[in-house]
Amino acid sequence: MNETDPKRRKLHIVTHGCQMNVYDSARMADVLAPLGYSAVDSPEGADMVIMNTCHIRERASEKVFSALGRLRDLKNAAGGEMMIAVTGCVAQAEGDILLKRAPYVDLVVGPQAYHRLPELIARVHRSRQSVIDTEFPAETKFDHLPDQAAPQGVIANLTIQEGCDKFCSFCVVPYTRGAEASRPAASIIAEARRMVAQGTREIALLGQNVNAYHGEGPDGRDWDLARLLNALAEIEGLRRLRYTTSHPNDMTESLILAHRDNPALMPFLHLPVQSGSDKILTAMNRKHTADDFRRIVARLREVRPDMAFTSDFIIGHPGETDADFAATMALVRETGFALAYSFNYSPRPGTPAAGLKQIEAAVKDARLYELQAELRRQQDAFNAATVGLTTPVLFTGRGRHPGQAAGRSLYAQPVVVDAPAALTGEIHEVNITHANPNSLLGRLISKENIAA
Ligand code: SAM
Ligand code: SF4
Repeated sequence: MNETDPKRRKLHIVTHGCQMNVYDSARMADVLAPLGYSAVDSPEGADMVIMNTCHIRERASEKVFSALGRLRDLKNAAGGEMMIAVTGCVAQAEGDILLKRAPYVDLVVGPQAYHRLPELIARVHRSRQSVIDTEFPAETKFDHLPDQAAPQGVIANLTIQEGCDKFCSFCVVPYTRGAEASRPAASIIAEARRMVAQGTREIALLGQNVNAYHGEGPDGRDWDLARLLNALAEIEGLRRLRYTTSHPNDMTESLILAHRDNPALMPFLHLPVQSGSDKILTAMNRKHTADDFRRIVARLREVRPDMAFTSDFIIGHPGETDADFAATMALVRETGFALAYSFNYSPRPGTPAAGLKQIEAAVKDARLYELQAELRRQQDAFNAATVGLTTPVLFTGRGRHPGQAAGRSLYAQPVVVDAPAALTGEIHEVNITHANPNSLLGRLISKENIAA
C-alpha cells in the first residue's frame, strides 16, 4: 500500500448491480479524488481496487468471490501493495463471512459509509489490518459527500432516496440499504444545477423506492416526487427527467398528473409488478393486486397516451403454480411492455421466502423461458413500431463508426444517425428508419436544437 506519493494513486472501481451502485461508484471516486486517486480502466497496477457489489440474486455474490480470487493474484504479484475494498450490498450483508473467506480484502464498507472512506483507508494504513464499516449512521452519507463531482455526461444519475420499508418476502434491500430516507430537495436541486452546468441535459432520479420520496422542501414543507420533479424541470438547460425504481403503491395521482403536466418528464416508466397472480403478490407481501397495476397503467395512458412501460418479474416464488404463472403471462400480454427484466426467484438468506418450500429449478427455467420469449416479442414489436416515426433524440456523442452521432429517444432507446458533428447535448428530430434488437437507426431531420 503506497502512501508516499499522494499524486499518483490509481483507483479501479468494478460496479455490479443497479444504477444506484453506478451512482455510488462515481461518488466514491469523488470522495477519493482529493487523496490523489484517479480512475483507471484496469486493476493491473492499481493502488486501490473497489468492488461495489450487488446482493440481489445468488449468482451476484458468487461473481464477487470469483472476481476477488483474481484480484488476490494481482495483489500478490504486486507484493501486497494493492488495497482491495468491497463495498455495496454484499459488503453490508456478508461483511464478516467475506473477510473470513477472503482475508486479503483490506476494507469492507456498507452503502451508508462511503463518505468515511478516507478515514477508513487511513485506518488500514495505520493498523495494517482489515477494517470493516457496515454501520447505519444516524447522519446520511449525502450530508457528507463532496459538492464537487466529476461530470457524468449528457445523461446522468442522481440518487434522491435510499432504503426501503416494504419488506417484500424475497428481497434483501431493506436489510442491506436500511430504512427509507429521502434527501432534502434543496441539496438535490443544487446537485442537479451543478450537473447541468457541467453539460448534463437528462437526469434520472434514483432510489430503491424513488416514488416513495418525501423530502424536506426549501419551504420547510414535505415535498413528494411530483413536487420535486416540477422544481427540477425549472432548471434552465435541463431538458429531460426520469425516475427509477418505482413501487405501484406509491404511484400517487399527483405523480401520474406530473406525466401530463411536466414537459421534461419522459413518457416512460419502470414499474415492477413481479407477478400477475394476486395469490403470489400476497405471498410476496407486495400489498397491491394485479388489477391495481392495470389501473395505474390505464390511468397513465389516459393522461399521457404515448406512455410506455417496463417492469420486473420474479418467476418461481415459493407457492407459484401453473395457474399463477398463467396469470403473469396474461398480465404481460394485456399490458404490452417496451422492455422488461425477469429473473428466476433466488432464495436470499434471512428473507421470509427463503425458508419456504422451493419450486423445482426445471419448472422455474421452463416458465422463465416462456416469459422471456413473450417479452422479447413485445420489445421487438415496440422497437419496430417506431420505424417511420419522427421523434426527438437527445444526442450524447459520436457513434461507433466515423460520421455517426448517437443519442437516446424519449424511451431511452439508443439511436444512431449519420451526422457531420457529434451534436452532443442537443435535441434534434430524427426519422427512424430501422430497428435493431437493442437500438434504432435514423435520419437527422431538423438541424436545429429543439425542446423535447
Ligand atoms: N424496489 C423495486 C420494486 O419494488 O420492485 C425493486 C428493486 S430490486 C433491487 C430489483 C429487482 O430485483 C426486483 O424488482 C426483483 O424483480 C428482483 N429481485 C429482488 N430480489 C430477488 C430475488 N430474491 N430473486 C430474484 N429476483 C429478485
Ligand atoms: Fe425490495 Fe422493492 Fe420490495 Fe423494497 S419494494 S423490499 S426494494 S422489491
